[in-house]
Amino acid sequence: MLRLNELKLPLNHTEPELTEAILARLDIAPEMLLSFTVHKRSYDARKKANIILIYSLDVATTDDAGVLQRRKHDVHLMPSPDMEYKFVAHGVNTDGSQPRPVVIGMGPCGLFAALILAQMGLKPIVLERGKTVRERTKDTFGFWRKRVLNPESNVQFGEGGAGTFSDGKLYSQIKDPRYLGRKVLTEFVKAGAPEEIMYVSKPHIGTFRLVKMVEAMREEIVALGGEIRFEQRVTDFEIEEKDGVRQLRGLLLASGERIVTDHVVLAIGHSSRDTFQVLYDRGVYIEAKPFSIGFRVEHPQSLIDTCRFGPNAGHPILGAADYKLVHHAKNGRAVYSFCMCPGGTVVAAASEPGRVVTNGMSQYSRAERNANSAIVVSISPEDYPGHPLAGIEFQRRLEEKAFELGGGNYSAPGQLMGDFVAGKPSTEFGAVIPSYKPAVHLTDLATILPDYAVEALREAFPAFDKQVRGYFKHDAVLTGLETRTSSPIRIKRRDDDLQSLNTRGLFPAGEGAGYAGGILSAGVDGIKVAEAVALSMAAKK
Ligand code: FAD
Repeated sequence: MLRLNELKLPLNHTEPELTEAILARLDIAPEMLLSFTVHKRSYDARKKANIILIYSLDVATTDDAGVLQRRKHDVHLMPSPDMEYKFVAHGVNTDGSQPRPVVIGMGPCGLFAALILAQMGLKPIVLERGKTVRERTKDTFGFWRKRVLNPESNVQFGEGGAGTFSDGKLYSQIKDPRYLGRKVLTEFVKAGAPEEIMYVSKPHIGTFRLVKMVEAMREEIVALGGEIRFEQRVTDFEIEEKDGVRQLRGLLLASGERIVTDHVVLAIGHSSRDTFQVLYDRGVYIEAKPFSIGFRVEHPQSLIDTCRFGPNAGHPILGAADYKLVHHAKNGRAVYSFCMCPGGTVVAAASEPGRVVTNGMSQYSRAERNANSAIVVSISPEDYPGHPLAGIEFQRRLEEKAFELGGGNYSAPGQLMGDFVAGKPSTEFGAVIPSYKPAVHLTDLATILPDYAVEALREAFPAFDKQVRGYFKHDAVLTGLETRTSSPIRIKRRDDDLQSLNTRGLFPAGEGAGYAGGILSAGVDGIKVAEAVALSMAAKK
């Protein structure tokens, strides 16, 4: 099989034209072409009226070696790499002499850690503080409609984790030499995701499909002997210390139950602040890390489509347009777009009472009228010095201010972009009607963020207009507050065996531990950590 990269065709090409382009590029007769599949398809929209599709293909010919030899000057032609996932261990703990591994958290990281452990025959126990995805959906929608927050069942907590009510973007910039991202996508397709996620350059699946896929993956884990327990919050960690070595021996649950185990995947996400505190109190090594703060910004999706795609706006292959923006402010802060959701809605993402947090989601169709994205300012431990958990308190203070400024009833504070930049409170919406539920309360957002962040954002919005014409729009709506762009801490682990720096048997993983950012990278990290657990158990045989 041959990998052929950088094959370019016009947006509206036909299927035979793709075949012809392959034949021409490989310089072979039609009868030599056995088959081809699209490995990746992206587009170049720099010339809006002449958008180009760029293919990476896997092609089978009657004489791959000969074609490769003849076309050796073509740097975009090579043998297709082996992308099949291979398990690192088999037949580990088949006699059950070791306690079963435990996975805490059933977000994408915990889900993939549990799936891989189950596929290797290790029968994991999964402990999830929230409810099943169906019950959780009712609680979350209840919060959005009735302003009643369930601190254990919401956008952050429950089966599927933080990304369940999301845009379901499935791409990442992580280095992935073992093609673990492909294993994640393959399992998602098995669980009901559309096939196209395997080849489009920026795949996404939207909220409703994710719900069904999470259920299908749960069924597979259970069928393979895994056990999944909901509404089981881990409240403590039993750590034995002997000759200077700390070894995890068990977990305590909120119910009072004790679970004996020597191997725990800690995949608790970035919002489990009570668990972060317990880990710190038990002496697990934690350090503060940078994250970002800012607002969700909404524009009409049609504005973004036209700006990006011109006359090709609305083309089915292109879908709703996204954007990616960066501005380096004069005060040294980076301002950038984060988790952009084309044709989506802004959602209430709080998990603690009396606090307001925003995020974004969409459905597969991305057909809502507004485009939304977080526009955030980078901050670092120098902004919240003194304690490894100080970033959490910093987030909490901002989220409390947002709650108060929104009116103290889970409405989010908002402002028109033009007013924010001009430094005056907003009193009336223009053409852009915000999508956040329960409601957006217009006010002056400059009062909730630190001065350096306000200054950087005021500079960035007009500057973004040079990148996306029309972006600096007076009545675009800013909704506050984005505080959970990534974990404020890192639970550091060793590079070789992925165990905590100072606690054997504890495998910090995913976004909460500071080792992933997004669904795909969290899933990939879950696979890596499951492999590390299997290898550790195999070594103890
Ligand atoms: P999480 O998904 O946060 O999962 C952690 C799980 O651990 C939770 O279910 C929690 O209940 C459980 N838990 C925590 N503490 C305990 C405990 N003590 N005991 C038992 N269980 C516990 N990323 C993308 O790539 N694309 C997107 O489109 C996207 N959109 C998003 C939209 C929203 C609204 C949100 C909130 C996030 C979005 N993200 C998106 C980010 C993505 O969801 C996260 O990066 C990802 O979910 C992190 O995975 P994780 O498994 O590490 O942690």
